[in-house]
Amino acid sequence: MGFQITPKEYVDYIILAGEEIEKNGEYVTALDAKTGDGDHWVNLNSGFQKLISMQEELKIMELAPMLKKIGMTLMSAIGGSSGVLYGSGYLAASKALKDAGALDIDTLYIFLQTELNAIMERGKAKPGWKTMIDSLYEGVEAYGAAKEAGQDERQVMEALKRGAQEGRDRTREMEAVKGRASYQTNKGVGELDPGAVTMCIQLECLSDYILNHKL
Ligand code: ADP
Ligand code: MG
Repeated sequence: MGFQITPKEYVDYIILAGEEIEKNGEYVTALDAKTGDGDHWVNLNSGFQKLISMQEELKIMELAPMLKKIGMTLMSAIGGSSGVLYGSGYLAASKALKDAGALDIDTLYIFLQTELNAIMERGKAKPGWKTMIDSLYEGVEAYGAAKEAGQDERQVMEALKRGAQEGRDRTREMEAVKGRASYQTNKGVGELDPGAVTMCIQLECLSDYILNHKL
């Protein structure tokens, strides 16, 4: 049988991701000071710290209501573009998974695809535009390709992580089309997109959580 992440375990992943985001404050803020308005990490970090402070409440919820609660919390606690985008992603995932009790290799894929589509729709942005979408898009593509090819669950999780990292790294050479970096004369070329960096941190933590605790 494959892996299963219960809602309670998803909260354990959120805690790990929140800790990892917390550690990357100086790095992400320095990046965002170059290409954005410097607040991305402070905003995102306060969203994750808020979730961590709510862990007892979240841990006793069913999957879909928990994802909805996470989305509403991120939307109000983060602010900025990323608050709305992460909020929309989680709310859409909550709807798509209303009948799922846990996340397995199939429902996690639905989760990530739904989150990606919701973020692209809400932000009216596409892959290749130097945003958080790039890490998620390449992670989801690699996940799907590995799954289609019949690779085992460890390989699928490794593919998710590697795809997200490649998407993040590719943002260095991209020109920003949306968001604040697009107002700069060089369109942010030469620097990673801070939102792609923090999205990648979350996807790395998710695949590591599954690799280290579930497979
Ligand atoms: P802002 O300063 O634009 O209000 P944040 O500081 O919360 O937003 O987050 C900045 C990050 O949000 C960017 O690095 C980028 O990855 C992401 N972003 C901004 N606009 C969009 C968009 N329309 N679609 C997807 N991601 C976006
Ligand atoms: Mg900002």
